[in-house]
Amino acid sequence: MSWLRRSLAFFVRCVEVVPSPCCGEKLKVIGSRKRISRNATGEVKLLALRRLRCTGCRKIHHELPDCLVPYKRYESTCLEEVVSEEEAGTVVAADDSTLYRWRSWYNELTTYWCGALSSIAVRFHQQPMEVSSTPSLSARHRIGQIVGDAPGWLARVVRPITNVNLWLHTRSAFLSADAFGRLSS
Ligand SMILES: [Zn+2]
Repeated sequence: MSWLRRSLAFFVRCVEVVPSPCCGEKLKVIGSRKRISRNATGEVKLLALRRLRCTGCRKIHHELPDCLVPYKRYESTCLEEVVSEEEAGTVVAADDSTLYRWRSWYNELTTYWCGALSSIAVRFHQQPMEVSSTPSLSARHRIGQIVGDAPGWLARVVRPITNVNLWLHTRSAFLSADAFGRLSS
């Protein structure tokens, strides 16, 4: 899975020259943006994410540390634990409606994530994933086939998809043909 490791670059601090996710040009650091994250106990952390500008098209990007999922306030590991639970538990200090939203978000987007990851693999000229299309396979199982089951799997899903600007903003968003069209262009 070398394509997954290669796509790490955008998220690693202190790497000076990383290609932009829009046109593959250099990114210039132009400042930072404050971002709040919460851990499993609900404790709030304030992070400063670097603002980066593409030297090709001048589009602004924000660095995303491994611990975060775009548009989610809780750390990636919290979301990962909650959506991995067989039965609803209390591993993360968040209210029930938040936990419910995370599970719905996960269930609705898993198929999209699988498709996006497979397309990225093709785009970077890697072998397409041998993902079983058996409908009885759980969403978790299908994702596991691509990024593995070890802790941190959600971050491994988020990173490459975000790097190519295909992360969906809301759980109700659905895949447009356009999104995959961009991948193959
Ligand atoms: Zn650009």
